[in-house]
Amino acid sequence: MAAPNNFAPSNSVAAPNEAASGSDLAINLSALQENYAFLASQSSSAQCAAVIKADGYGIGLEHAAQNLSTAGCRVFFVALPQEGIRARTTLPEATIYVLNGLFGSDCAALYDQHDLRPVIGSMAELEDWQSYCRDQGKVLPCALHFDTGMNRLGMGMEQAQKIAKETELSDACEIALIMSHLACADEPMHALNSQQLDRFRAIRELFPEIPASFANSAGIFLGPDYHFDLLRPGIALYGGQAVGDHPNPMQPVATLKSRILDVRYVPQGQSISYGAAQVTKRESRIGIVSVGYADGYLRAAGSTDNHSGAHVWLDGYSLPVFGRVTMDLIMVDLTDLPVGLAKRGMWVELFGPNIPIDDVAASAGTISYELLTSLSKRALRRYLPA
Ligand SMILES: *Cc1c(COP(=O)(O)O)cnc(C)c1O
Repeated sequence: MAAPNNFAPSNSVAAPNEAASGSDLAINLSALQENYAFLASQSSSAQCAAVIKADGYGIGLEHAAQNLSTAGCRVFFVALPQEGIRARTTLPEATIYVLNGLFGSDCAALYDQHDLRPVIGSMAELEDWQSYCRDQGKVLPCALHFDTGMNRLGMGMEQAQKIAKETELSDACEIALIMSHLACADEPMHALNSQQLDRFRAIRELFPEIPASFANSAGIFLGPDYHFDLLRPGIALYGGQAVGDHPNPMQPVATLKSRILDVRYVPQGQSISYGAAQVTKRESRIGIVSVGYADGYLRAAGSTDNHSGAHVWLDGYSLPVFGRVTMDLIMVDLTDLPVGLAKRGMWVELFGPNIPIDDVAASAGTISYELLTSLSKRALRRYLPA
């Protein structure tokens, strides 16, 4: 079952290992596992993989790999071979695909040595993989990535036809998966979704025997047409909102809390923080909180007279950040809080169960993906066991 969300640090007791830290980043591993189970349950036929690139979206690659494996995941995607090598140590049995593919022919041996499968996005990569396979006398697996509208990595229809027709192109290695990536799945009504689906179906017809993967997190919520054989979620596993304008069905995985260092009164008409970007409109009670952009709390989440920023949570109250976010500190407007509720030494939630990480990201003009992958090593990290 899920660990309770009111885990330490509580506002009454500080454990000894918290004494030296300004911020506390709790990673809820049971929420991660439950998110995996929820996403896997969205399809009756497709298997559910997990994308653990970028240090497991910032929460820690090894923890993500281990806990998702325990939850039943057998197929993993990383972006880089170095991430694949790390994942292999934790996952001796799993299938691991590397999305950024083969950098060059000299890279192929590394994939072979660590049993990694390149996601091949060009004919040049395919040739490199096959010549390695021929040289070694091995038929090694890979995925083929087709571009259906993202215009990033991946081959087109012409190359798909060529590979399907000319067996010497496909026989030297094992094509274990074909895949494509959606550009606008977070906007369910976007016309590009169904265009990409049509193109992927046409490519799939050329490889009827080979399993196919199309849906990232948001793609899963587009429905069964988009599921094919293997789901490929990332952000939703980590609690991020995959689809805009819907309630987020995922449980938060990362919770960031920081301590109040001081509470002070600032008269009306005074500016607070660098740049004097926001001025008090009333006599204000301001909390100085020990978190800043060096902790990964984005500088753009600050507030000015013309733009309201992110909010923090204390004891049932959502309180606005006041003025610019600095490297080590933020200021929070406590004026609307009953006097005495906020005190030096208490902890406020920056994001987590009460302040959605997507709201903080939106206040900073970005997405939860960037906020998560920007988390610094400075906050005390605690992994709450599943
Ligand atoms: C990152 C990535 C994913 C995961 O996407 P989410 O939106 O995080 O679910 C899936 N496929 C590819 C090719 C990716 O690059």
